[in-house]
Amino acid sequence: VALTIHERMRRVRQRDTAPELAVRRYLHGLGVRYRVCAPGLPSRPDLVNRRAGWAILVHGCYWHGHRGCALYRLPKTNTRFWREKIAANRARDNRKKRELERLGFTVHVVWQCEIGTPKFRQLGRRLARWAK
Ligand SMILES: [Zn+2]
Repeated sequence: VALTIHERMRRVRQRDTAPELAVRRYLHGLGVRYRVCAPGLPSRPDLVNRRAGWAILVHGCYWHGHRGCALYRLPKTNTRFWREKIAANRARDNRKKRELERLGFTVHVVWQCEIGTPKFRQLGRRLARWAK
């Protein structure tokens, strides 16, 4: 079955929440405390612990345009449209990160392709230490 670009992108977007769930499950298992929604913050991070002062943005590699990543490949049709769209997502991500940093948060960005890697586990252990 041939899918239109729009349908394909919608599928990618739905899957985009899977990395978030993986990050949550992992941190929860380590005893790291966080909230998923943070009322009152201008830019909503995916996970936040106000008391400890950190926030996590979980990025799907395609949708957020992870440079140099195998999971980020533009479709062969409508390439310009998607390039611009993803550039806009990237700009929004940067803005969000800066806003949170201005509010005093340490912001960690977790890319989908990093989940389960040593770098990711290291972050988890660091956050678990702060939680104690
Ligand atoms: Zn990636």
